[in-house]
Amino acid sequence: MDWKGRRESSNVDDRRGISGGGRALGGGMIGLLFILAKFFLGGGDLNDLQQIIQPSEYQQEMTAEQQAAEDEMASFVKVVLADTEDVWGELFRQAGKTYQEPTLVLFRGAVSSACGGATSASGPFYCPADKKVYIDLSFADELKRRFGVKGDFAMAYVIAHEVGHHVQDLLGLTSEMARLRRTVSEKEYNRYSVKLELQADFYAGIWAHYNQKMKHVIHPEDIQDALEAANAIGDDRLQKQYQATVTPDSFTHGTSAQRMYWFKKGYQTGDLSQGDTFSARDL
Ligand SMILES: [Zn+2]
Repeated sequence: MDWKGRRESSNVDDRRGISGGGRALGGGMIGLLFILAKFFLGGGDLNDLQQIIQPSEYQQEMTAEQQAAEDEMASFVKVVLADTEDVWGELFRQAGKTYQEPTLVLFRGAVSSACGGATSASGPFYCPADKKVYIDLSFADELKRRFGVKGDFAMAYVIAHEVGHHVQDLLGLTSEMARLRRTVSEKEYNRYSVKLELQADFYAGIWAHYNQKMKHVIHPEDIQDALEAANAIGDDRLQKQYQATVTPDSFTHGTSAQRMYWFKKGYQTGDLSQGDTFSARDL
């Protein structure tokens, strides 16, 4: 994607200096206190604890080269966020509505949100309670290293997916999901959760469609990168890496094939009315 020199969003809360505290031990300590607090309040998990105690490579001193690469990734993220503001701002306007822009929080190591605490291991997420998208830039490396996904557009897809959750929130779907969580079984809820995730993928595709129409900055290989990312982070792929058998009932994001299908559908049609993953019988 052509992104250098384009507008960067100002809706970014860069907490890398805070969560990374001096780029070294500080981040580990703050993270540790945070996880400990969470742990003793009963919400924590021992893995989080271990992860903070054994400093990961992100909490170690970065070389000037790594720092420069991360700063470049931060600029890229800000440009993509600006692109999502332009596209969704326009689509909401056309529908006679006002798009409320989300804030994107960049963090390193650990972060607290209105939805609770998270570490880099949680991956990027959207918190409806504070309307913010949280991203640890090390996820870009994770995509490359662990999932073999290359190309910066893969990260653009991830951001567009999280912004897709924000759009769902603005459209009232998130509160509907909260209602379902209280009323249906866990198995049933997981099915809805997959639908919600696939729709966020569809919205990411919608964003790519209009971004291309409005700005002509996306190349065919970018879409390939996005599809590879969608393929790599499907639940079936993730589960196969950790478990011997794949258990569909616990899928919460959809299979690789489903994720690619819905992203592609949004990208190719640009038609918001085709994104009703909730009514679609076979996903
Ligand atoms: Zn999601």
